[in-house]
Amino acid sequence: MQDASILIVGAGTWGASTALHLARRGYTNVTVLDAYPQPSAISAGNDVNKIVSFSESSCLHDDPDYANRTFFAALSHGFRHDPVFQPHFHETGAITSAVSPEALKHIHRRDRPGDAVIELNTPDDFRQAFPSGVLTGPLQGWKGYWKQRGAGWVHARHALLAAITEAQRLGVRFIGGDPEGKVVRLLFSPPSSATTPSAPPDVIGVETADGTHHHADRVILAAGANADHFLDFKNQLRPTAWTLAHIRLTAAEAAQYRNLPVLFNADQGFFMEPDADRHELKICDEHPGYCNWVRDPVSGERRSVPFARHQIPVEAEERIRGLLRATMPQLAERPLAFARICWCADTVDRNFLIDVHPEYKSLVLAVGASGRGFAHIPSIGGFVVDRMEGRLEGRLAEVVRWRAEAAVGRDWEDTLGRFGGEYRVMDFGEVQGWTNIGEI
Ligand SMILES: Cc1cc2nc3c(=O)[nH]c(=O)nc-3n(C[C@H](O)[C@H](O)[C@H](O)COP(=O)(O)OP(=O)(O)OC[C@H]3O[C@@H](n4cnc5c(N)ncnc54)[C@H](O)[C@@H]3O)c2cc1C
Repeated sequence: MQDASILIVGAGTWGASTALHLARRGYTNVTVLDAYPQPSAISAGNDVNKIVSFSESSCLHDDPDYANRTFFAALSHGFRHDPVFQPHFHETGAITSAVSPEALKHIHRRDRPGDAVIELNTPDDFRQAFPSGVLTGPLQGWKGYWKQRGAGWVHARHALLAAITEAQRLGVRFIGGDPEGKVVRLLFSPPSSATTPSAPPDVIGVETADGTHHHADRVILAAGANADHFLDFKNQLRPTAWTLAHIRLTAAEAAQYRNLPVLFNADQGFFMEPDADRHELKICDEHPGYCNWVRDPVSGERRSVPFARHQIPVEAEERIRGLLRATMPQLAERPLAFARICWCADTVDRNFLIDVHPEYKSLVLAVGASGRGFAHIPSIGGFVVDRMEGRLEGRLAEVVRWRAEAAVGRDWEDTLGRFGGEYRVMDFGEVQGWTNIGEI
């Protein structure tokens, strides 16, 4: 079994994690295909930082949040103890905050004050959580919770590369780039014939853009927001994009802004300390996301189709500057050094989708990261391999299973518990203008 041929489509966050876990379990014939050289320019994980918060596992047998807690306990263990990931985690603490009553109610349910969580009720409370001279803005109406331990950020690109490098060291083959790594379609077994009358249909490999047919015993689809392109997911995935930008600081400023707690505001956006390599501060505006709607020529139904762009809508730039004016106005008018839209796939309930396809038994799905999948890079691949091997614990398998029935008549406009921006899922078709960073 360990010598079964396994193809992973996508060397992003979940594909890299899965490759690493397969190699650690002794699989010797694993190939990962990606449309880009590593780290992929469009991977949602190819980023300077991502928020991570730890949680312990649940000991309550009937805990309705059991699956979530189990996934979080696994990532917490990975960032604390796995030498591949531990160096990239920075335990700076994290503040979760909001201004609107709805968002405040939402974060209160998640981040109750208690052990090592301090309630912040006034702008001064926030300022005191930061080094002096950093939060100089008015922070009007901000309230939140400061988790001082067991939270912070991870250098995402470094963690992604560390997973890929370790998987390669253990023998996994990565093929990145267009055409040789770009998968254009899944290959299916021929329909049953007189010689194989009862063979059920299955996936037997993939075709890449150079025309090569890669056959495999198992195919693991981990193509993030683009997974929807390869298979009819019965509306279980909604490719949705978010927006991020960087501003450049001087070396002296970067030193002053080091070791900040993560500051997340559910209505306005978030940032962490600047990147040590380039002294760039990444800022995201928070919102329910953008879709790119097109009509399916066959069914007439609309689908959101991802596209890559290293620019953001001007309205997102304005929101990012709004967040800076509220928090660090001294930086609010700086030119943007970098920006991009970044895609992920939302499931109907924001639980992951990790399952063997109900019809194609050799196809494993590792998708639906729902805008919160990076933090799981140390551990998610282990759960994917558990599912492939048929030993994913029942309560977890139930939460992340193929659940087409839940997506029947799906409300594509569902904000899925997110706030900010226009407080609705926005449409790239309505965007008036884009930034032109680096184009002049
Ligand atoms: C702006 C933003 C901020 C975020 N912040 C956080 C955060 O703070 N904490 C957190 O936990 N999560 C965060 N997320 C979510 C997280 O980044 C994603 O959930 C996670 O990275 C998704 O991993 P993935 O492997 O599914 O997709 P990806 O990492 O996007 O990987 C998909 C891979 O598939 C490849 N691919 C696509 N098409 C093809 C093809 N045709 N052939 C071969 N390969 C292909 C791509 O090149 C890519 O490498 C954020 C997301 C965004 C957009």
